[in-house]
Amino acid sequence: MTNTILVTGGAGYIGSHMVRLLDQQGYKVVVYDNLERGNRDAVTAGELVVGDLHDTDMLSGVFKAHDIQAVMHFAALAYVGESVHEPAMYYRNNVTGTQCLLDTMISHDVKKLVFSSTCATYGVPESLPITESTPQNPINPYGQSKLMVEQILKDYSTAYDLRSVALRYFNAAGCAEDGSIGERHDPETHLLPLILFEALRVQAGGDPADTNLMVFGSDFDTRDGTCVRDYIHVNDLCSAHIAAFNRMNRLPELGAEQFNLGVNRGYTVLEVIDACREITGVDFTYNSVDRRAGDPPELVADATAAMTNLEWQPKHADVKDSIRHAWQWFTDNPPS
Ligand code: UDP
Repeated sequence: MTNTILVTGGAGYIGSHMVRLLDQQGYKVVVYDNLERGNRDAVTAGELVVGDLHDTDMLSGVFKAHDIQAVMHFAALAYVGESVHEPAMYYRNNVTGTQCLLDTMISHDVKKLVFSSTCATYGVPESLPITESTPQNPINPYGQSKLMVEQILKDYSTAYDLRSVALRYFNAAGCAEDGSIGERHDPETHLLPLILFEALRVQAGGDPADTNLMVFGSDFDTRDGTCVRDYIHVNDLCSAHIAAFNRMNRLPELGAEQFNLGVNRGYTVLEVIDACREITGVDFTYNSVDRRAGDPPELVADATAAMTNLEWQPKHADVKDSIRHAWQWFTDNPPS
């Protein structure tokens, strides 16, 4: 039997890579996305249903029309800064929207979910590296909204036998190895794309001194004063979702689980910049500016539990792989 997976947010960055991987591995895919922030042309397989999570009639129609075995739920708003200024939008989309999805799933007896959670649920961690038992104290509404869903999933497992795996992503990075799909955010706020945009600008003849690249904070208590993050290749994130689906099938009696997804290794902002200079061969520069509000100094995963329990290993633990694939993509698809 072909497994059919519903991917919400399948037109977004990580969701679109998930759709591609599921298709490559022989799954049937249905994508549900409101296209508010997603891109139609990033959906390279399956049927795309354009709809909002709050539209439970439309969602129900999807469950009626397809024999869905599990849902991989990516649809969410994910800008930390925006969440501080527009918390209502974040709780409505990320929490209420998810609850609409869960209730619709349960009414159609679909009881397996892989959920996109985040290391932002930990806030400023008490200790490093971060394990699943590190206390979760989010410092912004985005992280809080994801933590609230984790709690809902625990309660729904107890009451309604909903089996779920929440995957707490560290910093997603990179593009498809074959250059077929990449990363597109509007506005772009992430470090790696912004570095590569600057490299493209200089490569095209722009004056390095007019740099657009800003390094937020140079006085953190880290090895070079800039923030440390654990960058995980988007394809490795996606392969962990399939591993989570397999685990839910193997161990249906388990309830709601949570795993960190990272590579157990941190890079400073300056180390990422150096690696980008090396891979692009472009000698661009940056300006050091004030810290960005809400940036914890260091977020590095201990992802041992995912590696053991999901029987999963990241293939691209070196950030240079992500940079190489992203450089290929942005060279072929420069920002407009
Ligand atoms: N960062 C930076 N300049 C930028 C964007 C990001 O110095 O233009 C830093 C940011 O402060 C953080 C790291 O790069 O320490 C990764 O930021 P990103 O927004 O990519 O991911 P986040 O860690 O916020 O999820």
